[in-house]
Amino acid sequence: MTDAAARPLARPGTPPRRAAWRPALLLLLVAALAGLAWPRVERHYLVQAGMAGADALQLSVAGLRGALDRFEPLPALIAERPILARLLDDPDNPALLAEVNALLLATADDLRVSDVYLMDLTGLTLAASSYLKPLSFVGQNFAYRPYFAEAAAGRVTRYFALGTTSGERGYFYAAPVRRDGAVIGVVAVKFTVDAFEEAWRSGPSELMVTDGNGVVFMASRPEWHFRTTVPLSSAARAEIRATRQYPEDRLSPLHVDARPLRDGQRLTRIGTGAQAGTFVESDRLMADAGWRVHILTPAGPARAQAAGALGIGGMGFLMAGLAGALALSHRARILDRLAAQRETQGLLEARVRARTRELDAANSSLRREVEERRNAETRLRITQKELVQAGKLAALGQMSAAISHEINQPLAAVKTFAENAAQLIDRDRHGEARDNMLRISKMADRIAAIAGHLRNFARRPQEGTGPVDVCAVADDAVDLMAVRLRARGAVLDYDRPAAPVMAVGGAVRLQQVIVNLLNNALDAMEGDPAPAVSLTISRPDAGTVRIAVCDRGPGLTDTELAQVFDPFFTTKPPGKGLGLGLSISFNIVEDFGGHLRACNRDGGGAEFRVDLPAATVALTAAQ
Ligand code: ADP
Repeated sequence: MTDAAARPLARPGTPPRRAAWRPALLLLLVAALAGLAWPRVERHYLVQAGMAGADALQLSVAGLRGALDRFEPLPALIAERPILARLLDDPDNPALLAEVNALLLATADDLRVSDVYLMDLTGLTLAASSYLKPLSFVGQNFAYRPYFAEAAAGRVTRYFALGTTSGERGYFYAAPVRRDGAVIGVVAVKFTVDAFEEAWRSGPSELMVTDGNGVVFMASRPEWHFRTTVPLSSAARAEIRATRQYPEDRLSPLHVDARPLRDGQRLTRIGTGAQAGTFVESDRLMADAGWRVHILTPAGPARAQAAGALGIGGMGFLMAGLAGALALSHRARILDRLAAQRETQGLLEARVRARTRELDAANSSLRREVEERRNAETRLRITQKELVQAGKLAALGQMSAAISHEINQPLAAVKTFAENAAQLIDRDRHGEARDNMLRISKMADRIAAIAGHLRNFARRPQEGTGPVDVCAVADDAVDLMAVRLRARGAVLDYDRPAAPVMAVGGAVRLQQVIVNLLNNALDAMEGDPAPAVSLTISRPDAGTVRIAVCDRGPGLTDTELAQVFDPFFTTKPPGKGLGLGLSISFNIVEDFGGHLRACNRDGGGAEFRVDLPAATVALTAAQ
């Protein structure tokens, strides 16, 4: 086996293609992209938040404007009540005062405003809806308030301020009370803005309202009240002080730092330190009131949204990247597997090639072996033929004494008959002499027949295999054996069918087989004074012709039965037997397509059977 074939088909090791740094690189890339994208994404979400805030701002402004518009005509309507003018004419009338106070209280309740009050032209409050409260307006002088001056001058006005009496921030509307066209007093209506702020607080955004000086007077966050969004000019500060509009000690800066985000939107930071907050700011001017309403949407949620969106985007990118990386690594694994398969295939092919080479080598060695066997067989056949010849010569050697005796006898008789014939002629006994001559002639025929058989037997067979008449061959063999049989005093029981019995064989070789079997039978009964041999030709079945030779010798032991057909197996003393007769006979019969078998007879002695294939009539005809 070659090296390639002996090596197991191990799967080649997979080189580690997957690098651990890929996911890290991907993460870095995603982080860098997120860093780059953050400002834009953040701005987008801030602007979106600002736009939502702007909508809310519009609603709030509409609400405020609606309220202002609703309250604006009230003071003028109230001022038209005649009873107010009457009280202004007669301020010390307690009954009238009581009536007006009650009326103002009822009006405030009806209109749902915090205060309704009546002042004379000095600014002194004569009657007020709060007349029953501990901090009543009655007796208070509001001449310092701009709305009073304006209304006293005959104009309907409004004003925002911290109530100096109540301490509540309020919006003041004022209208003059006239009699016969002349202003005799002022009616003011105040409503508080707490309800608005309350409503604003429920929304997500902060709202604040600044006045013309940038002071915050309404805000969803109470701590922003009265804070300044821009530095106050000294004139403005002086005016505030004079009108007591706001508590001066609370006018501290709110620290507003705004930078533009887009048109109408600013990113505004309000406050300092830990209190600071960042908002998206939009504002609207309420020109008639001189107010600016600001909506401040906290930037935190928008930033969180932006971060979330960026996170989701990043995750998506990361997932896509990981999926791509997975696909790449899967592809790499498939490539590895294909390479491994190619390598395995290469190994297999190498092994197949090696095996093929081995098979070729084995084939040619087999061919050589077959050739050698064939040569050996040819040599064997030649040797076998030589041995057959040698066997025949050996048989002739065995028979030579008997043959010479058989020939010598007629020769001696011929000599005697010839001498007698000569004497009978001399005595003119011609008739007897003729008889002698005839006997001499018969003797010569007999000698010639013996010589003919011996020649046939000793001759190398040139024959092929074909149908032969087994009876004729057996007759010849018996003739050949007659001399030895007689010499041994043996009885031959020859039983053959009258008609020819055709079998496949060769006459000369078959004769040799029968002679050999008869010789062995006689040898086996060496010491027997009356040896008896039988030769039988029969047809045990339609396809077989059997020649059986039986004797009454000692038979065969089991060892002899096992070895009797082996070449050179003999129990005879040296010089007597070669141990080739049966081996050669066996091969001859096998060549004919038949079988030679040995067995012991029931009554003692051995039996040798030659079974030959019966020859067909067609073959006979062809012969
Ligand atoms: P050989 O006759 O030269 O010994 P064979 O091959 O003819 O050679 O016979 C081999 C042996 O077979 C003989 O030596 C003998 O022992 C045995 N054998 C042959 N024929 C008979 C027989 N009819 N009875 C007993 N033994 C026999």
